[in-house]
Amino acid sequence: MKRVLLYMLFLTAVSAACTQEKKTVPPNLIVILVDDMGYADVGFNGCTDIPTPHIDKLAEGGVRFTNGYVSYCVCGPSRAGLLTGRYQDRFGFSRNPLFAPNDLEMGLPLSEETLADALGKAGYKSLAIGKWHMGAHESLHPLKRGFDDFYGFLSGGHRYFPEELTLNDPFEAKSQYDGYKTRLLRNYERVDETEYLTDAFSREAVSYIEENKDNPFFIYLAYNAPHAPLQATEKYLSRFDNISEKKRKTYAAMVSAVDDGVGLILNKLAELHLDENTLVVFLSDNGGPENHNASDNGVLRGQKGDLFEGGIRVPFAMKWPGTIPAGEVYDNPVISLDIFATIIAQTGKEISLKNEIDGTNLIPYLNGQNKSLPHDKLFWRKFDAQDYAIRRGDDKLLIKGGETNMLFDLGTDISEAQNVSQSNTDRVDELTKEFRKWSEEMQDPIFMGLREDKKYNELHPDRFEKLKD
Ligand code: CA
Repeated sequence: MKRVLLYMLFLTAVSAACTQEKKTVPPNLIVILVDDMGYADVGFNGCTDIPTPHIDKLAEGGVRFTNGYVSYCVCGPSRAGLLTGRYQDRFGFSRNPLFAPNDLEMGLPLSEETLADALGKAGYKSLAIGKWHMGAHESLHPLKRGFDDFYGFLSGGHRYFPEELTLNDPFEAKSQYDGYKTRLLRNYERVDETEYLTDAFSREAVSYIEENKDNPFFIYLAYNAPHAPLQATEKYLSRFDNISEKKRKTYAAMVSAVDDGVGLILNKLAELHLDENTLVVFLSDNGGPENHNASDNGVLRGQKGDLFEGGIRVPFAMKWPGTIPAGEVYDNPVISLDIFATIIAQTGKEISLKNEIDGTNLIPYLNGQNKSLPHDKLFWRKFDAQDYAIRRGDDKLLIKGGETNMLFDLGTDISEAQNVSQSNTDRVDELTKEFRKWSEEMQDPIFMGLREDKKYNELHPDRFEKLKD
């Protein structure tokens, strides 16, 4: 009897210790960011021709966001928002940066603190994998922006077959898209990669999890797939006899390679018993450019580059077993900026942030503690086109070219087919006012963008010259 009692006391003590430990160990964070994937290109959003069993498993193990947004409709600004937790227009990152290795201004300004910087203050180790796109100048390198390790490339896109990576140095580039051919970097060193890029990035993520299983870590896994160029290996292409259209077939193969990678990561977390201590997020950096890479935004209007839903509403899911209920579907609007705020609130430490952030800690909303909306309003600004958008509740006002008002009720009209601005001028006025107020806090763009490639070359004839100090 005494023995049983002692054993029970022992169990109670162990269980108390475990509970205590769970509270004091900061959770790991893995952000799996895909590039140019359409809203309807994952099983959890209804895709039927491309099976994504592992991405779906991630969503089923936690929450799938039906109204999950990014802060911009193309790669660079969207990533700047995600990595800083701030609307990127606050610091003038309103265009897609050019590949310009001599230009300190071309990328994420040094005034900004990244999520890796912030988590570093809480003792995390951080790894960036894949596409950086936050600047090719040495002072903007991931290792200068809070990351402890980096494996990937600095340009805004890349070729996928290792034999096509022929440039040893960014200064061997002659043009913007030569950046796609640079050999990969491990930290500052060029390496000889032998695998298909997507497989290589998955491999790196898995080995980092193993190496860091005993300390808190953040992995920013920025696959360039399924961004163009459309390139896939036979291993993945052979899975899609069901698709005859060549572009869509290659796109499907690229998505399938990402899905395999997600599977490897989830399996590794399970094997190391890290599931309950790891927040895993999956999302795309912008909507699918349907005509370009054969992606599919489903019923959403528009595509990459638009402030219609097809440009900014993305496949978005999050998993953290034991904290976020499995199988949850969350319909209130959330945004990529929330990832920063969410993880910072879980570290168990008071982290003093350099800048004010715009995101919200989503956990109380996802576990049912807070029934209200995470955001009263969300904003988007496409500076050069003077396209502006604001979402408040189900209302979305889109101002095209600075003057054409379009008001949609997303609750009944997800496809933005009915512009109801004419009959609701009061709501249009209110939302316009809200937008203007927000916009006053924003900065004009601080660098020339991808669309000004030619002009930039004229102004910077030494763009790819290795300059002496
Ligand atoms: Ca993109």
